[in-house]
Amino acid sequence: MNQDIAAKLHNNSSKRILRALRSSNEITKKDIADKLELSLPTITNCTKFLRSMDYILECGAVDSYVGRKPSLIAINGAYCYEVGVSVSSHWAGISVVDFSGKVLTNVTVQVAFTGTAAYWKNLASSVESTVAGLDLKSSQIHAIVIARPYFYTYDHITDAAVKRRPKGMLTDEEIAEVFDKEVHFIESPQAAAFTSSWDADNDRPAVILYLDRFIGGCLVKKDESGKIITRSLPLAHITLDKNGKKCFCGNQGCAQTLISTSVIFDILNGLSPEEDSNPVVKHPKGKPIRQDEFISQLEAGNMDYLKLWDGYLSDLALFVHNLRMMYSTDIILCGDILRQMAHYKYDLCIKVEEHVPFGIKVKAADFIHTSAQPQYDVSIGAALYGCELIVDSI
Ligand SMILES: [Zn+2]
Repeated sequence: MNQDIAAKLHNNSSKRILRALRSSNEITKKDIADKLELSLPTITNCTKFLRSMDYILECGAVDSYVGRKPSLIAINGAYCYEVGVSVSSHWAGISVVDFSGKVLTNVTVQVAFTGTAAYWKNLASSVESTVAGLDLKSSQIHAIVIARPYFYTYDHITDAAVKRRPKGMLTDEEIAEVFDKEVHFIESPQAAAFTSSWDADNDRPAVILYLDRFIGGCLVKKDESGKIITRSLPLAHITLDKNGKKCFCGNQGCAQTLISTSVIFDILNGLSPEEDSNPVVKHPKGKPIRQDEFISQLEAGNMDYLKLWDGYLSDLALFVHNLRMMYSTDIILCGDILRQMAHYKYDLCIKVEEHVPFGIKVKAADFIHTSAQPQYDVSIGAALYGCELIVDSI
Protein backbone atom coordinates (compact mmCIF):
# COMPACT_ATOMS: atom_id res chain seq x y z
CA MET A 1 0.00 0.00 0.00
CA ASN A 2 1.08 3.53 -0.74
CA GLN A 3 2.70 4.88 2.44
CA ASP A 4 0.70 8.10 2.45
CA ILE A 5 -2.57 6.20 2.26
CA ALA A 6 -1.47 3.86 5.05
CA ALA A 7 -0.54 6.82 7.23
CA LYS A 8 -3.86 8.51 6.53
CA LEU A 9 -5.83 5.37 7.40
CA HIS A 10 -3.79 4.99 10.56
CA ASN A 11 -4.46 8.60 11.58
CA ASN A 12 -8.15 8.32 10.78
CA SER A 13 -8.47 5.23 12.95
CA SER A 14 -6.56 6.96 15.75
CA LYS A 15 -8.97 9.91 15.64
CA ARG A 16 -11.95 7.56 15.70
CA ILE A 17 -10.55 5.75 18.74
CA LEU A 18 -10.00 9.03 20.62
CA ARG A 19 -13.53 10.22 19.83
CA ALA A 20 -15.07 6.89 20.79
CA LEU A 21 -13.25 7.04 24.13
CA ARG A 22 -15.19 10.21 25.01
CA SER A 23 -18.39 8.30 25.59
CA SER A 24 -16.79 5.37 27.41
CA ASN A 25 -14.50 6.26 30.27
CA GLU A 26 -12.40 3.11 30.22
CA ILE A 27 -12.67 0.37 27.65
CA THR A 28 -10.72 -2.68 26.46
CA LYS A 29 -9.10 -2.74 23.03
CA LYS A 30 -11.35 -5.64 22.10
CA ASP A 31 -14.50 -3.68 22.99
CA ILE A 32 -13.39 -0.62 21.08
CA ALA A 33 -12.48 -2.80 18.08
CA ASP A 34 -16.04 -4.20 18.12
CA LYS A 35 -17.57 -0.76 18.57
CA LEU A 36 -15.66 0.81 15.69
CA GLU A 37 -15.58 -2.32 13.52
CA LEU A 38 -11.81 -2.19 13.29
CA SER A 39 -9.43 -5.15 13.43
CA LEU A 40 -7.59 -5.83 16.67
CA PRO A 41 -4.15 -5.35 15.02
CA THR A 42 -5.28 -1.89 13.80
CA ILE A 43 -6.45 -1.00 17.30
CA THR A 44 -3.18 -2.26 18.82
CA ASN A 45 -1.18 -0.27 16.30
CA CYS A 46 -3.14 2.91 16.83
CA THR A 47 -3.25 2.71 20.63
CA LYS A 48 0.53 2.25 20.61
CA PHE A 49 0.81 5.46 18.61
CA LEU A 50 -1.75 7.30 20.81
CA ARG A 51 0.14 6.22 23.93
CA SER A 52 3.46 7.33 22.53
CA MET A 53 1.90 10.76 21.97
CA ASP A 54 0.46 10.79 25.54
CA TYR A 55 -3.08 11.14 24.21
CA ILE A 56 -4.24 7.99 26.02
CA LEU A 57 -3.37 5.98 29.12
CA GLU A 58 -3.47 2.32 29.96
CA CYS A 59 -5.33 2.20 33.23
CA GLY A 60 -5.21 -1.24 34.78
CA ALA A 61 -6.75 -4.53 33.82
CA VAL A 62 -10.28 -5.88 33.83
CA ASP A 63 -10.84 -7.85 37.04
CA SER A 64 -13.44 -10.35 36.03
CA TYR A 65 -11.33 -12.20 33.47
CA VAL A 66 -9.68 -15.53 34.05
CA GLY A 67 -6.24 -15.90 32.51
CA ARG A 68 -4.54 -13.04 30.68
CA LYS A 69 -6.43 -9.91 31.67
CA PRO A 70 -7.13 -7.38 28.92
CA SER A 71 -5.97 -3.88 29.81
CA LEU A 72 -8.22 -0.84 29.76
CA ILE A 73 -7.48 2.32 27.85
CA ALA A 74 -8.77 5.85 28.45
CA ILE A 75 -8.09 9.38 27.26
CA ASN A 76 -5.24 11.06 29.13
CA GLY A 77 -7.14 14.05 30.49
CA ALA A 78 -3.94 15.72 31.66
CA TYR A 79 -2.53 15.83 28.12
CA CYS A 80 -3.69 19.44 27.95
CA TYR A 81 -6.44 21.78 29.10
CA GLU A 82 -8.74 24.05 27.15
CA VAL A 83 -10.44 27.28 28.18
CA GLY A 84 -13.81 28.24 26.73
CA VAL A 85 -15.17 31.75 27.08
CA SER A 86 -18.77 32.68 26.28
CA VAL A 87 -19.60 36.27 25.60
CA SER A 88 -23.07 37.47 26.54
CA SER A 89 -24.56 40.92 26.81
CA HIS A 90 -24.37 41.18 30.61
CA TRP A 91 -22.06 38.44 31.73
CA ALA A 92 -19.33 36.13 30.49
CA GLY A 93 -18.83 32.44 31.27
CA ILE A 94 -15.45 30.76 31.60
CA SER A 95 -15.11 26.98 31.55
CA VAL A 96 -12.00 24.82 31.74
CA VAL A 97 -11.99 21.24 30.49
CA ASP A 98 -9.28 18.62 30.33
CA PHE A 99 -8.36 16.76 27.15
CA SER A 100 -11.01 14.11 27.84
CA GLY A 101 -13.68 16.82 27.98
CA LYS A 102 -14.15 16.61 31.73
CA VAL A 103 -15.30 19.99 33.06
CA LEU A 104 -12.97 21.24 35.79
CA THR A 105 -14.70 24.50 36.54
CA ASN A 106 -17.34 27.00 35.39
CA VAL A 107 -17.04 30.63 36.38
CA THR A 108 -19.37 33.58 35.80
CA VAL A 109 -17.97 37.08 35.36
CA GLN A 110 -20.50 39.89 35.71
CA VAL A 111 -19.43 42.24 32.97
CA ALA A 112 -21.45 44.14 30.39
CA PHE A 113 -20.26 43.48 26.88
CA THR A 114 -18.42 46.33 25.20
CA GLY A 115 -15.85 44.45 23.13
CA THR A 116 -13.24 47.11 23.80
CA ALA A 117 -9.63 46.56 24.88
CA ALA A 118 -10.60 47.14 28.53
CA TYR A 119 -13.34 44.50 28.28
CA TRP A 120 -11.05 41.84 26.82
CA LYS A 121 -8.24 42.65 29.28
CA ASN A 122 -10.71 42.17 32.11
CA LEU A 123 -11.73 38.77 30.68
CA ALA A 124 -8.12 37.77 30.09
CA SER A 125 -7.28 38.41 33.72
CA SER A 126 -10.37 36.45 34.83
CA VAL A 127 -9.18 33.55 32.67
CA GLU A 128 -5.73 33.82 34.20
CA SER A 129 -7.04 33.69 37.76
CA THR A 130 -9.42 30.84 36.90
CA VAL A 131 -6.52 28.78 35.54
CA ALA A 132 -4.34 29.66 38.53
CA GLY A 133 -7.17 28.64 40.86
CA LEU A 134 -7.06 25.15 39.37
CA ASP A 135 -3.34 24.89 40.06
CA LEU A 136 -2.67 24.73 36.35
CA LYS A 137 0.26 26.43 34.69
CA SER A 138 -0.39 28.68 31.73
CA SER A 139 1.80 26.34 29.64
CA GLN A 140 -0.67 23.49 30.23
CA ILE A 141 -3.39 25.43 28.45
CA HIS A 142 -3.52 24.56 24.76
CA ALA A 143 -5.92 27.26 23.61
CA ILE A 144 -8.58 29.77 24.55
CA VAL A 145 -11.73 29.45 22.48
CA ILE A 146 -14.06 32.42 22.49
CA ALA A 147 -17.73 31.87 21.64
CA ARG A 148 -19.57 34.88 20.39
CA PRO A 149 -23.20 35.56 19.71
CA TYR A 150 -24.29 36.65 16.26
CA PHE A 151 -24.05 40.35 16.86
CA TYR A 152 -20.31 40.00 17.02
CA THR A 153 -19.67 37.80 13.99
CA TYR A 154 -19.15 40.08 11.06
CA ASP A 155 -20.22 37.58 8.39
CA HIS A 156 -23.72 37.16 9.69
CA ILE A 157 -24.81 40.61 10.64
CA THR A 158 -27.08 42.80 8.63
CA ASP A 159 -26.44 46.49 8.05
CA ALA A 160 -28.83 47.32 10.85
CA ALA A 161 -26.92 45.09 13.23
CA VAL A 162 -23.63 46.68 12.21
CA LYS A 163 -24.98 49.98 13.47
CA ARG A 164 -25.66 48.37 16.84
CA ARG A 165 -22.06 47.31 17.16
CA PRO A 166 -20.41 49.53 19.77
CA LYS A 167 -17.44 51.68 18.81
CA GLY A 168 -13.94 50.62 19.80
CA MET A 169 -14.51 46.87 19.50
CA LEU A 170 -11.29 44.95 18.93
CA THR A 171 -10.64 42.81 15.87
CA ASP A 172 -9.94 39.08 16.20
CA GLU A 173 -6.20 39.65 15.87
CA GLU A 174 -6.25 42.29 18.59
CA ILE A 175 -8.24 40.01 20.91
CA ALA A 176 -5.72 37.19 20.39
CA GLU A 177 -2.93 39.59 21.41
CA VAL A 178 -4.71 40.47 24.65
CA PHE A 179 -4.89 36.79 25.69
CA ASP A 180 -1.29 36.06 24.71
CA LYS A 181 -2.23 32.43 23.90
CA GLU A 182 -3.53 30.47 20.95
CA VAL A 183 -7.03 31.94 20.47
CA HIS A 184 -9.84 30.49 18.35
CA PHE A 185 -13.35 31.76 17.74
CA ILE A 186 -16.61 29.91 17.40
CA GLU A 187 -20.25 31.03 17.25
CA SER A 188 -22.34 30.47 20.38
CA PRO A 189 -24.83 27.99 18.82
CA GLN A 190 -21.98 25.91 17.41
CA ALA A 191 -20.28 25.86 20.79
CA ALA A 192 -23.52 24.72 22.45
CA ALA A 193 -23.74 21.98 19.82
CA PHE A 194 -20.38 20.60 20.98
CA THR A 195 -21.67 20.31 24.54
CA SER A 196 -24.79 18.43 23.49
CA SER A 197 -22.98 16.05 21.11
CA TRP A 198 -19.62 15.55 22.80
CA ASP A 199 -20.16 12.21 24.50
CA ALA A 200 -23.49 11.28 22.92
CA ASP A 201 -23.39 7.70 21.75
CA ASN A 202 -25.86 8.28 18.91
CA ASP A 203 -25.01 10.08 15.70
CA ARG A 204 -28.50 11.39 14.96
CA PRO A 205 -28.40 14.88 13.48
CA ALA A 206 -30.06 17.63 15.49
CA VAL A 207 -30.98 21.28 15.21
CA ILE A 208 -29.62 23.49 17.96
CA LEU A 209 -31.94 26.37 18.76
CA TYR A 210 -29.95 28.89 20.69
CA LEU A 211 -32.14 31.22 22.76
CA ASP A 212 -30.53 34.44 23.84
CA ARG A 213 -30.93 38.14 23.10
CA PHE A 214 -30.10 37.12 19.55
CA ILE A 215 -31.58 33.90 18.24
CA GLY A 216 -29.06 31.53 16.74
CA GLY A 217 -29.01 28.04 15.45
CA CYS A 218 -27.05 25.35 13.74
CA LEU A 219 -27.29 21.81 12.49
CA VAL A 220 -25.08 19.34 14.27
CA LYS A 221 -24.18 15.78 13.33
CA LYS A 222 -21.31 13.37 13.61
CA ASP A 223 -19.55 12.22 10.47
CA GLU A 224 -18.34 8.62 9.92
CA SER A 225 -15.19 9.32 11.90
CA GLY A 226 -17.19 10.56 14.89
CA LYS A 227 -16.19 14.16 14.27
CA ILE A 228 -18.77 16.75 15.34
CA ILE A 229 -19.80 18.78 12.30
CA THR A 230 -21.85 21.96 12.65
CA ARG A 231 -23.46 24.16 10.06
CA SER A 232 -24.83 27.57 10.90
CA LEU A 233 -28.58 28.03 10.35
CA PRO A 234 -30.06 31.51 9.93
CA LEU A 235 -33.03 30.81 12.19
CA ALA A 236 -33.40 34.32 13.63
CA HIS A 237 -35.09 35.79 10.58
CA ILE A 238 -37.51 33.03 9.69
CA THR A 239 -40.97 34.63 9.60
CA LEU A 240 -43.27 33.44 12.36
CA ASP A 241 -45.99 36.08 12.09
CA LYS A 242 -46.40 38.00 8.81
CA ASN A 243 -48.17 40.83 10.61
CA GLY A 244 -45.86 40.79 13.60
CA LYS A 245 -43.53 43.36 15.07
CA LYS A 246 -40.87 44.96 12.88
CA CYS A 247 -37.48 43.28 13.18
CA PHE A 248 -34.15 45.09 12.97
CA CYS A 249 -33.54 43.24 9.67
CA GLY A 250 -36.40 45.18 8.09
CA ASN A 251 -38.93 42.34 7.86
CA GLN A 252 -41.92 41.74 10.11
CA GLY A 253 -42.55 39.00 12.66
CA CYS A 254 -39.17 37.26 12.50
CA ALA A 255 -38.39 34.63 15.14
CA GLN A 256 -36.03 37.23 16.59
CA THR A 257 -38.98 39.48 17.46
CA LEU A 258 -40.95 36.69 19.16
CA ILE A 259 -38.66 34.18 20.85
CA SER A 260 -35.42 36.01 21.61
CA THR A 261 -35.03 36.65 25.31
CA SER A 262 -35.01 40.37 24.55
CA VAL A 263 -38.75 40.01 24.00
CA ILE A 264 -39.30 39.17 27.64
CA PHE A 265 -36.84 41.64 29.04
CA ASP A 266 -37.84 44.53 26.78
CA ILE A 267 -41.44 44.16 27.93
CA LEU A 268 -40.43 43.82 31.56
CA ASN A 269 -38.28 46.89 31.33
CA GLY A 270 -40.85 49.01 29.54
CA LEU A 271 -38.84 49.15 26.33
CA SER A 272 -41.62 47.70 24.21
CA PRO A 273 -44.55 50.14 24.46
CA GLU A 274 -46.41 48.76 21.44
CA GLU A 275 -47.02 45.48 23.23
CA ASP A 276 -50.42 46.51 24.59
CA SER A 277 -51.72 42.97 24.78
CA ASN A 278 -49.03 41.89 27.19
CA PRO A 279 -49.44 42.27 30.91
CA VAL A 280 -47.82 45.38 32.21
CA VAL A 281 -45.30 44.41 34.78
CA LYS A 282 -44.15 47.16 37.06
CA HIS A 283 -40.48 47.31 37.76
CA PRO A 284 -38.49 49.41 40.18
CA LYS A 285 -37.44 52.62 38.43
CA GLY A 286 -33.90 52.73 37.08
CA LYS A 287 -33.19 49.13 37.97
CA PRO A 288 -33.56 46.89 34.95
CA ILE A 289 -35.05 43.46 35.54
CA ARG A 290 -32.61 40.72 34.64
CA GLN A 291 -32.97 37.04 34.25
CA ASP A 292 -32.37 36.02 37.87
CA GLU A 293 -35.07 38.37 39.05
CA PHE A 294 -37.41 37.09 36.35
CA ILE A 295 -36.79 33.47 37.32
CA SER A 296 -37.37 34.04 41.02
CA GLN A 297 -40.62 35.91 40.30
CA LEU A 298 -41.79 33.03 38.09
CA GLU A 299 -40.96 30.52 40.76
CA ALA A 300 -42.76 32.62 43.35
CA GLY A 301 -45.89 32.33 41.18
CA ASN A 302 -46.17 36.00 40.17
CA MET A 303 -49.18 35.92 37.83
CA ASP A 304 -48.06 38.76 35.54
CA TYR A 305 -44.72 37.09 34.98
CA LEU A 306 -46.34 33.70 34.45
CA LYS A 307 -48.66 35.18 31.78
CA LEU A 308 -45.74 36.75 29.99
CA TRP A 309 -43.81 33.49 30.15
CA ASP A 310 -46.81 31.51 28.91
CA GLY A 311 -47.07 33.78 25.86
CA TYR A 312 -43.39 33.34 25.18
CA LEU A 313 -43.69 29.55 25.45
CA SER A 314 -46.59 29.55 22.95
CA ASP A 315 -44.53 31.43 20.35
CA LEU A 316 -41.58 29.18 21.04
CA ALA A 317 -43.76 26.07 20.62
CA LEU A 318 -44.93 27.28 17.20
CA PHE A 319 -41.33 27.86 16.13
CA VAL A 320 -40.14 24.49 17.45
CA HIS A 321 -43.02 22.81 15.59
CA ASN A 322 -42.02 24.61 12.36
CA LEU A 323 -38.39 23.56 12.85
CA ARG A 324 -39.45 19.95 13.27
CA MET A 325 -41.47 20.18 10.03
CA MET A 326 -38.50 21.71 8.19
CA TYR A 327 -35.68 19.47 9.39
CA SER A 328 -37.29 16.30 10.84
CA THR A 329 -34.49 16.11 13.40
CA ASP A 330 -34.23 16.28 17.16
CA ILE A 331 -34.33 19.85 18.43
CA ILE A 332 -32.04 20.83 21.25
CA LEU A 333 -32.80 24.04 23.11
CA CYS A 334 -29.71 25.82 24.36
CA GLY A 335 -28.81 29.16 25.83
CA ASP A 336 -28.99 30.98 29.11
CA ILE A 337 -32.81 31.14 29.22
CA LEU A 338 -32.70 27.35 29.57
CA ARG A 339 -31.87 27.76 33.22
CA GLN A 340 -35.58 28.36 33.30
CA MET A 341 -36.74 26.24 30.41
CA ALA A 342 -35.77 22.88 31.87
CA HIS A 343 -38.60 23.22 34.41
CA TYR A 344 -41.09 24.11 31.69
CA LYS A 345 -40.20 21.51 29.08
CA TYR A 346 -43.41 19.62 29.77
CA ASP A 347 -45.51 22.75 29.15
CA LEU A 348 -43.59 23.45 25.97
CA CYS A 349 -44.12 19.90 24.68
CA ILE A 350 -47.89 20.13 25.26
CA LYS A 351 -47.97 23.39 23.31
CA VAL A 352 -45.94 21.88 20.46
CA GLU A 353 -48.29 18.90 20.24
CA GLU A 354 -51.25 21.30 19.88
CA HIS A 355 -49.88 22.27 16.46
CA VAL A 356 -49.88 18.70 15.20
CA PRO A 357 -52.94 17.86 13.06
CA PHE A 358 -55.59 15.85 14.90
CA GLY A 359 -55.14 12.11 14.69
CA ILE A 360 -51.39 12.12 14.15
CA LYS A 361 -49.58 10.71 17.14
CA VAL A 362 -46.53 12.79 18.04
CA LYS A 363 -44.73 12.78 21.33
CA ALA A 364 -42.90 16.07 21.41
CA ALA A 365 -40.77 14.99 24.35
CA ASP A 366 -39.15 12.40 22.07
CA PHE A 367 -37.54 15.03 19.86
CA ILE A 368 -37.31 18.13 22.07
CA HIS A 369 -34.30 18.14 24.33
CA THR A 370 -32.95 20.77 26.64
CA SER A 371 -29.31 21.39 27.31
CA ALA A 372 -27.98 19.61 30.38
CA GLN A 373 -25.67 22.56 31.09
CA PRO A 374 -27.87 25.55 30.38
CA GLN A 375 -25.82 28.34 31.87
CA TYR A 376 -22.49 27.05 30.65
CA ASP A 377 -23.28 25.05 27.50
CA VAL A 378 -21.58 27.69 25.36
CA SER A 379 -18.38 28.12 27.37
CA ILE A 380 -18.03 24.35 27.92
CA GLY A 381 -18.67 23.70 24.22
CA ALA A 382 -16.09 26.30 23.22
CA ALA A 383 -13.52 24.51 25.39
CA LEU A 384 -14.50 21.13 23.93
CA TYR A 385 -13.97 22.57 20.47
CA GLY A 386 -10.39 23.25 21.58
CA CYS A 387 -9.96 19.51 22.35
CA GLU A 388 -11.41 18.63 18.96
CA LEU A 389 -8.88 20.91 17.23
CA ILE A 390 -6.09 18.76 18.65
CA VAL A 391 -7.72 15.47 17.66
CA ASP A 392 -8.45 16.83 14.21
CA SER A 393 -4.81 17.77 13.72
CA ILE A 394 -3.55 14.18 14.20
ZN1 LIG B 1 -35.52 39.73 11.11
